[in-house]
This record gives sequence, structure tokens and C-alpha cells, in this order.
Amino acid sequence: MLKGKVAIVTGGTRGIGYSIVKKYLENGAKVILFGSRQETVDNALKSLKEENAEWEVEGMCPTLTDAAQVEEAVLKIKEKYGKIDILVNNAGISQSTPLYDYTPEEFDKVIDINVKALFYAILPTAKIMKENGGGSIINTSSMVSLAGQASGVGYPTSKFAVNGMTISLARELGKDHIRVNAVAPGVTRTDMVASLPDEVVNRISMQIPIGRPGEPEEVADAFLFLASDMASYISGEILSVDGATWI
Ligand code: NAD
Repeated sequence: MLKGKVAIVTGGTRGIGYSIVKKYLENGAKVILFGSRQETVDNALKSLKEENAEWEVEGMCPTLTDAAQVEEAVLKIKEKYGKIDILVNNAGISQSTPLYDYTPEEFDKVIDINVKALFYAILPTAKIMKENGGGSIINTSSMVSLAGQASGVGYPTSKFAVNGMTISLARELGKDHIRVNAVAPGVTRTDMVASLPDEVVNRISMQIPIGRPGEPEEVADAFLFLASDMASYISGEILSVDGATWI
């Protein structure tokens, strides 16, 4: 589905991001994964190469909250591959601190990586996509972007912003044949939810009509679809992958 495409996936070393990287490679893309540390990048590349030594994948570690570093990395990729077809903004952090315990620094941290970093990656990449005749940008939202969250206000605030950025850029960039969409996962079995006790996961699962949390591979399928030509007329969409959860 992605033969010959060049894709960047941020936060591609584990969880949903790693599953997206794998799914894109299985479907013929060349993938550059962005990670926060060289060690985790190396580990991810090693396990991908063990699965299939033919896969064209490499890793980089720009600080995603530093616009200049991200631009430099994106330009290096353009220099090497000549184009960028797909940008997946997946890296993000979650947070559940109650308002009365919140600090301004904590709020800034979540907005910096969950919102500003997406803009920093889109800015240089969209210019390259435009020059090349188009592309697909997929952001990572969350089910809390539709319903809010009763604690940890920074996280749902950031994901509402992701939806706003997605829909607005879809309208602005359509004329350049750049599609902009977001995937809004529900509770998905990654490190982000692994720290929750079983009883909490079980309680949450009771609120999911499908009766269980999602697997990272199931979320990655939505990223594959939106990146592919099967979604050629889909832009500005927030695609829920949450087993019909309504929290
Ligand atoms: P995860 O914690 O397993 O992975 C997050 C990834 O983001 C990691 O690779 C991490 O290194 C990277 N990252 C975080 N902060 C970074 C930073 N400052 N610089 C560079 N990289 C950074 O989480 P996940 O569950 O795979 O989450 C991926 C995305 O999915 C996030 O945007 C998250 O908000 C979203 N999401 C997850 C769930 C869920 O239940 N797991 C639900 C809804 C949305």
C-alpha cells in the first residue's frame, strides 16, 4: 500500500509509533523514525532489522521541541531521499495530575511535545511535500479530544489543539494536495497504560463496547489507511479507533 513512499514517524521506538513503523515497512515504505534517545532508537532499529533485514529504516534523535533541530533533520531526509510523502506526528506524553496539584511547568511540558512539536515538524515537511506535488500528514489525537478528561487538564487540552491544527491545515493545504488527518485512539495497550493496575484496566474495559483495550497494531492500521491512496479523498478527518468508547 505504500510502495516507494518515504515516511517520518515521531516517537517510533515503542508503543503505537513502533507498530506504525512496522506496518509502513511491511507495506513497502522507507521509514525514518524519530526517537528521544540514541539508545532506544538503536534498540528499535535492531529489532526491526531482526524481523526483516531488507526493510529500509533508519533513526534520528532531533529534540522535537526544538524547531531548528527538527528542521535540520527534515532537510537531511529530503537531501537523502529527495522527498517526504508521509509525516506521522505520534510522539506524545499523557498526564493525569489534578488541577490543584498542577504547575505551569507541567502544563508547558505537555503542550510543548503534544502540540508545538507537531507544528515544528509540519512546517518544514509541508514545504517539501508541496514542492513534490503532495503528501499525507497524520497527527495523533485521543478519545479525550472529544470528551475531555476529569483530571490532568493539559492532556485533553493538547489533544483538542491537535484536532484544531489538523482540521485547519487540511483546509489550508488541500490546494497543495497535502492531506491532513488525525487518529484518535482509545485506551491502547502500550507503556502509557501499562502502569495502570489491572483493576483500573478492567473497569475501563467495561466502558468499552468492544470489551477490551485496543492493541497498538489495530491503531497502526488506521495510520496505514490514512497514509495510503485508499484515503485519497479523506482530509480533515479525526478517525476514532476506540472500540466505540464514550467516556
Ligand atoms: P508510549 O509512551 O508508549 O510512546 C510514546 C512515544 O513518544 C515514545 O516513543 C516516546 O519516546 C515518544 N516521546 C514522548 N515524549 C517525547 C519527547 N519529548 N521527545 C521525543 N519523543 C518523545 O505511548 P503510546 O501509547 O504509544 O502513545 C503514542 C501516541 O498515542 C501519543 O501521542 C498518545 O498521546 C497517543 N494516545 C495513546 C493512547 C493510549 O491509550 N496508549 C490513547 C490515546 C492517544
